[in-house]
Amino acid sequence: MSNPPSSHAFSHVCSYLLGIDLPPATSFFQESIPAWLSAAVMSLQAIYPDDKFGVILRKASPEVTPELRMKCLDCPGKLYYLGPGNSLSNYEVHLRNRQHRFRVSSRIKGTAY
Ligand SMILES: [Zn+2]
Repeated sequence: MSNPPSSHAFSHVCSYLLGIDLPPATSFFQESIPAWLSAAVMSLQAIYPDDKFGVILRKASPEVTPELRMKCLDCPGKLYYLGPGNSLSNYEVHLRNRQHRFRVSSRIKGTAY
């Protein structure tokens, strides 16, 4: 258990970011991820290496400023607020959720959910 949070963990997140269906504003999107969020995502990925999560940019309408949300790839259709403050505590509650853990372990075992 001597592996520190590696850049590999973060590249996993980045590849997801690049893979989502965004309007041609990907560079804006990447620039809009604050450093604390990148760090928080990396440390969460180190704690929950089996979980797949990403950051998405939620844009309700062209007029409003896009907002960052956490997304759980094992529990489709749900978005989670960042915070409180410069943390991902809201999202980490979800990662500990029993149904979420069940979905993750089902995926790892290869059983469909
Ligand atoms: Zn989940």
